[in-house]
Amino acid sequence: MYNTGNTVLNDDGVFSACMERQVLCGYACCKFRGGNWIMLLPGEYELADEVDLKTDHLAFQDNLHAICSKPCKNGDLKPMDCSWYPLFPANETATKFLVADHRKCPIPNKHLIDKMRAVHTAALTWEKRFPGALKRIVALSRDFVGYKPFPYKLDNQSVLEMLPEELLEITLPTEFSVDYVCMEWTSNQAGYTATSTPEDED
Ligand code: SF4
Ligand code: SF4
Repeated sequence: MYNTGNTVLNDDGVFSACMERQVLCGYACCKFRGGNWIMLLPGEYELADEVDLKTDHLAFQDNLHAICSKPCKNGDLKPMDCSWYPLFPANETATKFLVADHRKCPIPNKHLIDKMRAVHTAALTWEKRFPGALKRIVALSRDFVGYKPFPYKLDNQSVLEMLPEELLEITLPTEFSVDYVCMEWTSNQAGYTATSTPEDED
């Protein structure tokens, strides 16, 4: 989306690897049929009020859980979770991540390295402002649906591959079924699996 909402940190998280694939995915991450939801970070709901962003498109279950009913646009609140998608921090130092199942989000992992750095920085900024936030959101994210462990991590400024035991450690209890097909996609999902895309083989 070019005309997207704004986060409370005024960083909409738009990136080219996502824009290039929206024709295929049909904005799957903005649809809420599969038990998925948007996490509001601790303090975000309250901050949204202060920065005067509209929230009519969002339905809040409480100040940490929301779903969205129509596309956000400039002047609307875009939750931080949306701006981080398809990644989400998986540990309290935001060096390990979850990534959306690639049968829902078609962006190959190799095109998400810069995004990983950006989410790391934003998550630490948030933690500084709201101490304890990362511990809380990592615990809450265990209820997410449709994510897998991201195969890369940050070690100081280096990008390293995750070890099998590290991947296992952050695997969520609920995943999409083996025969999951995303209803939002506009064409065939052949070649896309939970953890890879055809481009990952290039
Ligand atoms: S599902 Fe992935 S590619 Fe599609 S809009 Fe969302 S982040 Fe972008
Ligand atoms: S606020 Fe709604 S439309 Fe905007 S990015 Fe999030 S889910 Fe998508």
